[in-house]
Amino acid sequence: MSPYDNPPTRPPDRAPDEQAAAPTKGGGCHGGHETMLKAAKAAGKTATLERLAEDYPKGPHDQPQSMCPAFGSLRVGLRMRRTATILSGSACCVYGLTFTSHFYGARRTVGYVPFNSETLVTGQLYEDIRNAVTEMADPEHYDAVVVINLCVPTASGIPLDRLPREIDGVRVIGIDVPGFGVPTHAEAKDVLAGAMLRYARAEAEQGPVQRPRQKDGQDAADRPTVTLIGELFPADPVGIGALLAPLGLAVGPQLPSREWRDLYGALDCRLAAAVHPFYTASVREFHAAGRKVIGSGPVGVEGTADWLQSVGAAAGVAEATIDAAKTKVLPAIRAVLEANPIKARVTVSGYEGSELLVARLLAEAGAEVPYVGTACPKTPWSEADRDWLAARGTHVQYRAALEQDLAAMRDVKPDLALGTTPLVQAAKEEGVPAIYFTNMVSARPLFGPAGAGALAGIVAAQTRGRERFRQMKGFFGDIGSGDSAGYGAQPAAQGGD
Ligand code: SF4
Repeated sequence: MSPYDNPPTRPPDRAPDEQAAAPTKGGGCHGGHETMLKAAKAAGKTATLERLAEDYPKGPHDQPQSMCPAFGSLRVGLRMRRTATILSGSACCVYGLTFTSHFYGARRTVGYVPFNSETLVTGQLYEDIRNAVTEMADPEHYDAVVVINLCVPTASGIPLDRLPREIDGVRVIGIDVPGFGVPTHAEAKDVLAGAMLRYARAEAEQGPVQRPRQKDGQDAADRPTVTLIGELFPADPVGIGALLAPLGLAVGPQLPSREWRDLYGALDCRLAAAVHPFYTASVREFHAAGRKVIGSGPVGVEGTADWLQSVGAAAGVAEATIDAAKTKVLPAIRAVLEANPIKARVTVSGYEGSELLVARLLAEAGAEVPYVGTACPKTPWSEADRDWLAARGTHVQYRAALEQDLAAMRDVKPDLALGTTPLVQAAKEEGVPAIYFTNMVSARPLFGPAGAGALAGIVAAQTRGRERFRQMKGFFGDIGSGDSAGYGAQPAAQGGD
């Protein structure tokens, strides 16, 4: 058994940007996992909860500690053109979610249907939601209206599946995203993306649908496309397009989509690539549409070679063409890695879903990576990355809890810890250089030559800070911790009046 295998026994302190919620078994911001689950089942949500449990298995640990899961669905809705997003939930939850969405630059209105105990128990809340949707469903402005049931309306059985399927041509998508059913905000992205894809697939099966617009990273050439699944750094689809061109393929509209009509284009692919490996409901829709789905991603030399092989095989590309594509693209990636070697021990922790790919790239660049923790579950689409890392001695922890990430960081004493807010905070307190996964790593390219160079740059810059951290820790000692936290907590040693 690994030293990182112990499940958490208590929820940890969280940084402000992660305080919107952190559901934990038996207790949490939603008032108790088991109680809410029981109430939701009694209110007729058994099928929904069983589907969520199947798609997003919780694994051996309690639910991971990150922001309110519903943020993932909210973000996907807010990032789509001509899409209105309405929350149905407690005011405190909606406040946290609205705050977080604007913190991340939503610049869009978040709709809200409030309730009180009377409207909840009499069913008036459902009527209020239906009225709000009817009011919002203006085809001049919207292609779709999304309604998200948070914890309390889900537990109370508010039946969003009874909303009209469309109003004046505006699609209505109602989803339940309770914290006691969806473990992470990453997987909540899939709840909405999968629901939209399902709707769009049904439309496409009925007859002709709109063509997607041509966008950056997409090729005007009429080549078969690969749909990339996951929210990627904007330059990455362009870089991946360059890797696919020698195979005679192009990048198609991504999922989650930025516009309703892109969903048709995403489905109309030769194959889909689950670059982020947690989109289980979305993958189900691609399979239902007869599309193959492959895992992993084009990171580093070996990762890119393996990925091109998988893509080529799934797309029916001739072996000689696949070999020629590798010969064309791999030397550039190798050259960047050789020019930017990473000589450091690095731990990786996060809840984005790309943690294993980041660890692979670090390892290929020369880093020692003893531990990778991801809040996401084990799925077939990260299996190849897990095997590759495990073969090099990396401990891969799915559904990682903060306690496990902290234990690993303290155990292996890395030169750099990539992690979540509370992990970075703890690392810095202990004099270990650390950077935020979300703000620093996910905000840079990851794939192809651009990814190789970008990651090496931040690792080199941050590990240089180790000596500075050591000096600061030596200088300040215990000041600022425990009883002496805060300016002026200790009386001045001398001086004064
Ligand atoms: S919706 Fe549920 S998980 Fe999210 S903040 Fe509210 S109670 Fe917590």
